This record gives sequence, structure tokens and C-alpha cells, in this order.
Amino acid sequence: MGDIHTLDKSELVERYSKLEEKYAEFKSKNLSLDMSRGKPSPDQLDLSSDLFSILNTNTLKTVDNNDIRNYGGVDGIREAKDLFAEILHVRPAEVIVGGNSSLTMMYDTISRALLKGVLDSDRPWGKLPKVKFLCPSPGYDRHFAICESLNIEMITIDMLDDGPDMNKIEELVSKDDAIKGIWCVPKYSNPEGITYSDEVVNRFATMKTKAEDFKIFWDDAYTVHHLTNEHPHLKNILQACKDAGHPNRVFIFASTSKITFPGSGVAAMAASEENSQFILEQLSAQTIGPDKINQLRHVRFLKNLDHINEHMKKHAELIKPKFDLVLRELDSQLGDKHIASWSKPNGGYFISLNTPDGCAAEVVKRAAEVGVKLTKAGATFPYGKDPKDRNIRIAPTYPSLAELKVAIDVLCLSVQMVSIKKLLN
Ligand code: PLP
Repeated sequence: MGDIHTLDKSELVERYSKLEEKYAEFKSKNLSLDMSRGKPSPDQLDLSSDLFSILNTNTLKTVDNNDIRNYGGVDGIREAKDLFAEILHVRPAEVIVGGNSSLTMMYDTISRALLKGVLDSDRPWGKLPKVKFLCPSPGYDRHFAICESLNIEMITIDMLDDGPDMNKIEELVSKDDAIKGIWCVPKYSNPEGITYSDEVVNRFATMKTKAEDFKIFWDDAYTVHHLTNEHPHLKNILQACKDAGHPNRVFIFASTSKITFPGSGVAAMAASEENSQFILEQLSAQTIGPDKINQLRHVRFLKNLDHINEHMKKHAELIKPKFDLVLRELDSQLGDKHIASWSKPNGGYFISLNTPDGCAAEVVKRAAEVGVKLTKAGATFPYGKDPKDRNIRIAPTYPSLAELKVAIDVLCLSVQMVSIKKLLN
């Protein structure tokens, strides 16, 4: 079919009407498909079924001889701290194991910063006239939703091939002390699947910030979520910050949501020991302790990092064919048309698709009109506004392969129709 930019007007009109016929066929099928959120599929959830039976009344004590049925242990049980220390390449004393959601830990961390300040703050962030966060974009919509709901002004930062635009970040943080934080998904980023280079990590650790209490929110959500056997190296940010003389600059977050059960997993954060102690003091006013029963059953089930890697291979066996299908279809249906580009991730949960500028919202709308729900256009940018209106996040894991094929056909069709329409106008 070839590059649509080489077609004259009448050829474009003809092409469009053929696509319209196909679109009408899909419409008549009354589809109801959802590719909007990165959720594991039911067969992925089945991989963790042993969590339901792994604990019994003979196994209710932690290694410290604490009874998991009772109150206590604000920072989590020792074996869970050990496990997350191994996952995040930090020391157990630097880990706080929490409840079921890392997003909750992020929200709470920012809420406490607004109410009480963080280590190195001279006053709570909420007492300042303005608080700003840097938001590498496209990024994770729920990070941006936290800022929006807490009245934190967001500044969009471009994502480059090896992480966010560090020149821009260094320039902004060196000048403006209202900039208190930045969101980062450093490995298999949501949605582009990018892993930050060593240089980016080093620059984060060493950069000069006007705000003494500037914090990096390092959401390592996809740290073990490989799709292939080639695992990218992510430099240890906490160590880099320590080496650069800024040990308290970073908060690291992760969870087992997409290792075991989203919503019933275990979340953790890691930070320097001083930072962790500061947080624990505040946290002990908030809770008498997390769900230690869930923590222990997760430790018993996941065991150690080697065992987690084996478990994640089983996830990859289930979801890699879905990523492959999407990439194959994008390539065969859009590859030669010069209207779209997309990421080819080696891990994580998403494929990021860029349409021609000004087309994404209309593509998502058209797909929805034939029953294919995609993530809202713009969601991957602060305030839900993609300045170029071109980015669409594809979440291939939940639908079956057969459903996915139909959903991608609809998506590719919609991209072509909207792109041609734009050329005709
Ligand atoms: N962080 C990122 C980057 C995510 O993509 C997600 C879920 O999609 C989460 C955090 C949510 O994590 P949790 O289930 O631990 O709250």
C-alpha cells in the first residue's frame, strides 16, 4: 500500500472509502474490547495461585519470632525487607515494606511532605506558595493524577532515547526552588519501555538543585518484568546519590502487583537509612503496622530474586506472544505508511504509539466507536494534555490473543483513517 504522503487527493479519497467499509464491518460486530489498562491476564494471575495455600496455622511466625497475626512492625517483617532489598539492590535497613500498593506509598509520601516536610525541608511543602514537580512524558498517568489532585504544578519534560532530557532538568532544578520533585520510571518506563542510561542516573545523582529538599520519586515498578533474556542494566540510583554526596535525594518504590496479584500484592519503598528513619517516625502516627500475613505469604511464595526471575519468565511466556502480535501487526499494517512510530520494549507492560501530530484523540475516539477501548489520549501527559496530540498507550497483556488481533486491526484502521482525513483537510 505504501507511504500515504505519495498519494494524490483522489487516491486518498479512494483509500479512505475502502477503509470506511472495513470500519463499518467492525462496527456491525458490536465489539467490546479493552486495551486501556496494564492489567495481567487471568492466566498470569493463575501463576500465583499457591499464595492462597502457602500459609497455614503452623507457619505464623516471622524469622524474628513475631506473630504475623498481631499488630506491629511498621517497617514490615524482616524477611520481606530482605526480599525487597535483594530486588532493589539496597540494604534491608533502607527498606520499608508497606501495604498492597506502591502508588499509595507514593501518594502518602507526597502527602506527608506537604503536611510535614521531608528530611532537609525547612518547612512543609504545603506551606510554600507553590510546589512544582518535573514530569518526564509520556509517563504514568497516575503519577500525574497524584500531582493534580494535590495541587502540585507539573512541568512536562521530554523523554529521550535513554531517559528524560537531563539538560532541561538540570537547567530547571538549578534555578527554581519551588521544584521539589520528579517522577521517574527508570526501567522499562511506562509507556515507552525505556531504561535510563548510566549517564542519566549519574546526572540525577550529581545535579545541583536549588531546593535543598528536592526528591526523586524513582518508581522501579517494572524492575523484574523482562520480556526477553536480555536484561538491561540500570545503575543503582541510591548508591549513585550516596557517592555524589546526596544520599537523601531519592525515594525508590516497587511492588509485587504485576508479579503476583495487583491489588493484593506487597509494596515497598527504599531510601537512605536516615531518610527511612525520618519516614518511619511519621509513618508510625499513620499506622500500627502493615498486613504482615500478606507479606509473609509473599516471601514464602517468591523466596528470593532468582526464584522471582524464574516466576517472571512464566509471565513472559504468556505475554511476550501478545507484544509480538501487536508489533507484528503494527509493522505489517502501518510499517510502510510513514504515519506512525512505536516502541519495541524488552520489558514492562506497554507499547507506546505515536500517530501524526493532532490525531491521537480522534484515533482513540474512532476505536471506541467500534467497541475498542484504549487509554484516553493525552493520559500519558500532565493534565491529560498531550501537546502534540499524538501519543497512544497500548496495553497488550489483558486481552486474549484473538481479542488483541481484532483490537489492533481496529487501532491500525483508525490510525490510517484519521491520518488520511488530516491530509485531506
Ligand atoms: N507504577 C507504575 C509505573 C505503574 O505502571 C503502576 C501500574 O500500572 C503502578 C506503579 C501501580 O503500582 P501498585 O499496584 O503497586 O500501586
